[in-house]
Amino acid sequence: MSLSAHTDFCTTPALEAEIRRAAELLAEARHAVALTGAGLSVESGIPPFRGPGGIWTKYGEPPLDGYQRFLHDPAAAWRERLSPREAWARVLQDAVRDARPNAGHRALVEFERRGHLRTLITQNIDGLHGLAGHREVLEIHGNHGLLRCIGCHARFEPDRIAVDPEHLPPRCPECGGIVKGDIVSFGEPIPADVLRACFRAVAAADCMLVAGTSATVYPAAEFPLDVLRTGGVVIEVNPEESELSAMATISLRGPGGAVLSRLLGCLAAPSDRSVA
Ligand SMILES: [Zn+2]
Repeated sequence: MSLSAHTDFCTTPALEAEIRRAAELLAEARHAVALTGAGLSVESGIPPFRGPGGIWTKYGEPPLDGYQRFLHDPAAAWRERLSPREAWARVLQDAVRDARPNAGHRALVEFERRGHLRTLITQNIDGLHGLAGHREVLEIHGNHGLLRCIGCHARFEPDRIAVDPEHLPPRCPECGGIVKGDIVSFGEPIPADVLRACFRAVAAADCMLVAGTSATVYPAAEFPLDVLRTGGVVIEVNPEESELSAMATISLRGPGGAVLSRLLGCLAAPSDRSVA
């Protein structure tokens, strides 16, 4: 239902003015960083985890100690990965397999290509930013399409790791460590390399574009606040008001695909800015 509403979305003169202002801020930024979340993936047909229509709301949440269970019995965790018994895991697997990048992902690629965006931090695990052609992507919760060694953090395409159902878990060809899916499990720390890169990007940022996330989950929740604390600006794009809205420099109320495309349109027309 919300998907068709987004397709029919029309901007208002007031929102257009705000989008032009946001485009000015983005154009003036020395180091802009984007932060994206589930709302952007929903527009590609991937259900959210929580809230109405969320797959955990519908089918129940996975255990909160998923990582500890993995460490306790990696072979059992791998058997579940190879043929999921949990309905939510099957629904997510199918949705991610069929999903394609949307107008929001494509607009962000253009921001990067034209030099308006340095780094993109995402909470999404679907890999759609990379599929759209984005280059600098930090996936804080991992990527469904990759495997990761829990010893040395090396990431692997699945075809690089031999998975023998008789000898689970598979081992890292670099260090011999245990290999798991790259998606960060409940109870698992965010991989240190990604987290460090996020902190570096945020520390350098004077502008943060937050799209499709209410940014309430640590560590992402801290990123826009850090940018504001150091005198930077935050541009929020969200169909609904969020906890961030009141704090954001500009809060653009609308779906990511439509609003980011308009933002791109305004950036592409610098003559409008000198008139405004
Ligand atoms: Zn390793």
